[in-house]
Amino acid sequence: MLTQFIDSFIRKIMANLTPEQAKQMLLAITEIIIENEPMLSEADRLLGDGDHGIGMKRGFSAAAEELNAIETVESLSEPFKVAGMAMMSTMGGASGAVFGSMYQGAAKGLKAYDELSSEALAVWLTDGLAKVVKVGGAKAGDKTMCDALIPAAEKAEEVKDLPLEEAIVLVAQAAEDGKEASKDMLATMGRAKSLGEKSIGFPDPGACSVTLMLQAARDYITSL
Ligand code: ADP
Ligand code: MG
Repeated sequence: MLTQFIDSFIRKIMANLTPEQAKQMLLAITEIIIENEPMLSEADRLLGDGDHGIGMKRGFSAAAEELNAIETVESLSEPFKVAGMAMMSTMGGASGAVFGSMYQGAAKGLKAYDELSSEALAVWLTDGLAKVVKVGGAKAGDKTMCDALIPAAEKAEEVKDLPLEEAIVLVAQAAEDGKEASKDMLATMGRAKSLGEKSIGFPDPGACSVTLMLQAARDYITSL
């Protein structure tokens, strides 16, 4: 009984990311977003003005540059703050504030953590979401990136007692399911709102981005 408890405790601690590894995870996220610029722009062509991938590529390239410039990562919070600020100051459009907030909004809460654990993952997504909602006012079902981020944050809260490598798999799946569910939603926020019923049938571009980010995080964490 006690050995089982100790085993599962050790397994949980071992899976956590150091601040340097969290920076590498964020760099892996920037890579997947940059690579998928054409797919994200195509998703936005169907629902908006076709520039989502371009803005994301600009913001995430700037974030990668700033992350690479950190020589020694001082805290877990630091790379999240640096990445979020780089996005906010370079991306422009709705998504600059929205995606910058997803990172920067989490930096304060992450100060309480030395490593990226399942609990810290939940803080990132829950606090990030709270900031996104504060700046953008979207709610579940409006067909925005929140429709992937809300289920991901909820799942992260639900599984924060699991080792990180197990939690992130479930969280990435929840984001993907949310992105898929966004296909059937009627857009009521942002540019896609003007399409009315014609917005039904396609996933929200921002929800596609959130899904890619969490898949990159999953692939980084599970490959360690
Ligand atoms: P823009 O609409 O300025 O062209 P982008 O094309 O880069 O910006 O991004 C569009 C995405 O931004 C949408 O797919 C949606 O997910 C997200 N978005 C737009 N407005 C909001 C909002 N108020 N709250 C959350 N996400 C939003
Ligand atoms: Mg757009």
